[in-house]
Amino acid sequence: SGWSASLRRNACSSPSALRSCMSAWVIDQYGTDGVLKYTEEMPVPSVGSTSEVLIRVHAASLNPLDISMKGGYGAKLLNLRRDPMSVMAGASEFPLVLGRDVSGEVVDCGSDVTHVVPGDEVWAAVPPWKQGSLAEFVTLTEYEVSHKPKLLSHTEAASIPYVANTALSALVNAGGLCRDSASNKRVLITGASGGVGTFSIQVRQSAFLQLCRRVCCCDCVYSCCLPLVCRQLLKAWGAHVTVTCSQNAEGLVRGLGADEVVDYTAGDSLELLEMMEKFDVILDNVGGETEEWATGLLKPWSGAKYVTLVSPLLLQTDSMGLLDGMLQAGLSLHNKAMQNIISCGVFYRWGFYAPDGPALDEVSKLVDAGKILPVVEAQFPFTQVPQAFQKVENGHARGKTVVRVV
Ligand code: NDP
Repeated sequence: SGWSASLRRNACSSPSALRSCMSAWVIDQYGTDGVLKYTEEMPVPSVGSTSEVLIRVHAASLNPLDISMKGGYGAKLLNLRRDPMSVMAGASEFPLVLGRDVSGEVVDCGSDVTHVVPGDEVWAAVPPWKQGSLAEFVTLTEYEVSHKPKLLSHTEAASIPYVANTALSALVNAGGLCRDSASNKRVLITGASGGVGTFSIQVRQSAFLQLCRRVCCCDCVYSCCLPLVCRQLLKAWGAHVTVTCSQNAEGLVRGLGADEVVDYTAGDSLELLEMMEKFDVILDNVGGETEEWATGLLKPWSGAKYVTLVSPLLLQTDSMGLLDGMLQAGLSLHNKAMQNIISCGVFYRWGFYAPDGPALDEVSKLVDAGKILPVVEAQFPFTQVPQAFQKVENGHARGKTVVRVV
């Protein structure tokens, strides 16, 4: 109610209430070198709608998307998402704050927010069309925010949300993992040593949890029958996970639960994969040439699915404009999907990050149960954000790069 919201606001000891400016790393233009700038004059965001939450950022993490967005990747489509009706004619996305993950503390809530209150420790993946988390404060809607796992520090927690939302969206929504067909599935994950891959290897149980919420007939979201259903389903899961990565990442991915590891840098990696029993689902975190041979590794005519996270959609809208780019991307997706279904009876799909706080609630429970581990490869203080960008830009990730904001 308005009364409790007002009480919550009054009880809030938010320094944001006393300050109009905050520290942030921003870009004022797109570019590769030298565009990241530290400022202490970024306006503190406010709770702009009744469903919004203001979060004090403790830690943020970087994704390859941040590096690309710094150079202007996706600008046209993301600007359309920021202002779909073009009501802010002439308005600019700059100064733009990057950073897609946040772990922090709620400092203010809109009057309709019921799931969190000021003082709660939360985590979230910040959608790329919103101002990011490389700042002292960030606003998100209640739906995007979830309670942080109690067992993790903010630094550890910041390594998970964006890759978790992406992996779950790709495996469950695009990969079609479902209660009736998940048992004994053979799954191949390419690029398994990076952020999405290291989470995806562990995601088997998460996928079930998300699924359970969707199949739950009483619309309880996940509070009543889900735990029971999940326990039963988890027992029945039994998926087999094969991954591709560099040889020096084998220990990491095996430690996270990979059953079979193929070193893609060895000359015979495709031969090895072709000798294996065919797969039901492939999650491709690499794209490019991988796409050309990967669909041939799927079981033909059995509903098997190839899901790639590396789609040309944003590149095409950047280079061809919104309409032509979307048409071209749609055509390319349609052609590949038709070609694959006609020639070998496999589904070809694109996977995308999707904001989903309730899914993070479920991941949080799995983390606290010790079933999902954070994989933090490197951490940087807030003063060294450019160095953190350089680390991610250098590639060869073995998990995530995190920035400690406080
Ligand atoms: P990372 O950079 O964290 O990881 C990529 C990993 O792939 C690295 O560990 C790299 O290590 C490994 N790798 C590189 N080339 C190959 C290869 N040929 N075969 C096997 N492994 C390889 O990226 P993320 O995990 O965060 O993301 C993966 C991809 O998904 C990125 O392209 C990203 O842009 C995309 N993505 C798309 C999203 C969407 O909404 N569509 C959302 C999130 C991510 P090494 O080079 O040492 O082998």
